[in-house]
Amino acid sequence: MTPFVGQRIAVVGLGKAGLPAALRLAEWGAEITAWDDKDSARTEAARAGLHVADPAADFRFDALLLSPGIPHERPRAHPAATAARRAGAPILVDAEFLFRAVRAAGSGARFAGITGTNGKSTTTALLGHILARAGVPVSVGGNLGTAALSMPMLPDAGAYVLEMSSYMLERIDTLRFNVAVMLNLTPDHLDRHGDMAGYAAAKARIFARQTDEDLAVLGDDDEWTRGVPAPARLARISGGHACPGGAWLADTTLRDDAGPILEMREAPTLPGAHNAQNAAAATVMALALGVPRAALATSIITYPGLPHRHEQVGVIRGVRFINDSKATNADSTARALESHARVVWIAGGTGKEGGIEPLAPLFGRVAHAFLIGRDGPEFAATLRARNVPHTLLSTLEEALPAAADCAFGGAADVVLLSPAAASWDQFTGFDQRGDRFRALVHAMEKA
Ligand code: ADP
Repeated sequence: MTPFVGQRIAVVGLGKAGLPAALRLAEWGAEITAWDDKDSARTEAARAGLHVADPAADFRFDALLLSPGIPHERPRAHPAATAARRAGAPILVDAEFLFRAVRAAGSGARFAGITGTNGKSTTTALLGHILARAGVPVSVGGNLGTAALSMPMLPDAGAYVLEMSSYMLERIDTLRFNVAVMLNLTPDHLDRHGDMAGYAAAKARIFARQTDEDLAVLGDDDEWTRGVPAPARLARISGGHACPGGAWLADTTLRDDAGPILEMREAPTLPGAHNAQNAAAATVMALALGVPRAALATSIITYPGLPHRHEQVGVIRGVRFINDSKATNADSTARALESHARVVWIAGGTGKEGGIEPLAPLFGRVAHAFLIGRDGPEFAATLRARNVPHTLLSTLEEALPAAADCAFGGAADVVLLSPAAASWDQFTGFDQRGDRFRALVHAMEKA
């Protein structure tokens, strides 16, 4: 299959997704010029047999595949992006090329797109799980996990489930999602998008190519998402109130117009109203893709969850240990605290502006907090001012045994790592921090 024969494509950004993308496009007939600002990445690309040169020097390409992490406008445009724009060439994302290749191959495989500020990965993985259990040949990834151009060709009956960031959505062109959801919108990435209106507009592009044969799903739980102009065929979803024509959480039951779908308390990996919103989204999309209604409940109940997102990593003497390392801001930690009546809480790291102040309404649920990392002292000051019991330590290695002892003593039956802070002061990322927590809990289980 050579859908891109005769096309000259510049690929800039040769990371985990970019290098395989360049190789795949070359395999599909494109003439590739590959570039990365890092020496080591260029060397690796050359070693893999790619033609390596700076496309910005003399831009004669039909398109620029620019890694989503590299800005084409704000805060400062990459020279390759500036050159592409001057030459009138489109700046595209890998998912766009996947779509073109699939259609060029004559496959009618469906595309499901998922975006939003929070809940993208959960909804993507959940929808992938539901489809796989229903026997649909499925490939799941995009912004998380398998990159678009590392996915296999799927047959007509297949479905691609793609997590789409706002950066990716700015760079799609013909990609038409048969089903797409925008879960929610809260201020994020404004350095790239300028302002909330710019951010919302980038996200709304997920619906841009849809017709009335396709389904758009919109979250109904925040003002910004509610304000998105209604696409052709629309279903709304909510974790809090009725959305006729869509799906929603009524008390603790996930339901739609046809009646109850499932009791969310039976889905242990999806606690909280926010996860009910994710489940509502996955439900509406799965139904639109032809999954029988009767299959939904069991699929949602058996969803295994994703690492580092409210992941239960062990139970010792009746105490549950939960790794929510992905919660790098107060908003995400609020979701975790809301899911428990009482917790022993481990938090801290590189805090965001405002620290844990926004969590004050939930402090009543904290039996005791153990604080670590760079901003541990700042978090401790917030807790001190509100009379929340806490202990200031420095590392996770110190905090876990102290938190466990506190819980074993009867303070709470949950030890929750939900840092409300980035991890860069002590770890290479939230995943390393969560892996460490999991390993420490497992070591304690064996002791
Ligand atoms: P993303 O991929 O968009 O970052 P994740 O599914 O990884 O989202 O979830 C990240 C965090 O966001 C979760 O730990 C949870 O605290 C919060 N979250 C998840 N789903 C939602 C939602 N629908 N609304 C608000 N917050 C959510």
